[in-house]
Amino acid sequence: MGRVSPIKTFTSPTVKGGFHKIACNLCGADDTRPYLQDKDYLFVRCRSCGLVYQNPQPKPDEVALRYNDSYFNYEYSNEDNFFNLMLLGLADAGFHNSELERWQDKTFLDIGCATGKLLAYMQNRNWKVRGVEICKESAEYGIKQRGVPIFIGTLPQAKLRSESFSLIHFSHLIEHVADPRALLAEVRRILKPGGRVIITTPNCTGFQARLFKNAWRSAIADHLFLFSQKTLMRLLKSLQFNIYKVVTWGGLAKGTAPQFLKKPADYLAKKLGVGDVVLFVVSK
Ligand SMILES: [Zn+2]
Repeated sequence: MGRVSPIKTFTSPTVKGGFHKIACNLCGADDTRPYLQDKDYLFVRCRSCGLVYQNPQPKPDEVALRYNDSYFNYEYSNEDNFFNLMLLGLADAGFHNSELERWQDKTFLDIGCATGKLLAYMQNRNWKVRGVEICKESAEYGIKQRGVPIFIGTLPQAKLRSESFSLIHFSHLIEHVADPRALLAEVRRILKPGGRVIITTPNCTGFQARLFKNAWRSAIADHLFLFSQKTLMRLLKSLQFNIYKVVTWGGLAKGTAPQFLKKPADYLAKKLGVGDVVLFVVSK
């Protein structure tokens, strides 16, 4: 009997051509060993800092082409799932009891906001919201159907004012961008002093990643970087972020184990820090 594999995260059809080699985004070294290889990607691991990334990887223009109407269909059909996960993330970040909810100045930015469901939720809680989304179809849906303001494009293209947001959120975004260091530097620039950033991304040293290897649901061509708690922590610290909280969650993917095992596995994964997703709460 073959091993049961989780269902992989959606990935766009492979980009043809337009690949380039990059140095390590965390430490700048250019010395790697193969980590995960499939017909659509080669992930390498930096010998000096341990960062896992695709190399060669598609050029930024090619990356942008992936987030088209088929991506919208994926985001739209999964928006309730993603929204519920983001609410769990907010709860884990201590959001509901935090002083942030009591702030006078409630300015919220969601980067990679997809169809804007979280923006609408925050708007209902009296936050002044703004979204940034590269997938035009997803952004237009949010603007038209939810009436939330979304900039269509990348974060640097949005040219947001310095120190203009008290809470910045991005869930399952940083692994998709060509330059995570530049993204975080821009986030730091637009974050208000005393504000918070909430980041979630797949955890490449979690239990599932180690168990499933190439079949891990997050080992896909759309993910240019695969962070661990350690590598993301180091990148955040190198940019002078203060780490408030780190938590992982998710023990077993749907369909890979009987339901009665899922709850204890989820509990253990969180307890041991080997969950499938890692969440950071940081400030500057
Ligand atoms: Zn490195």
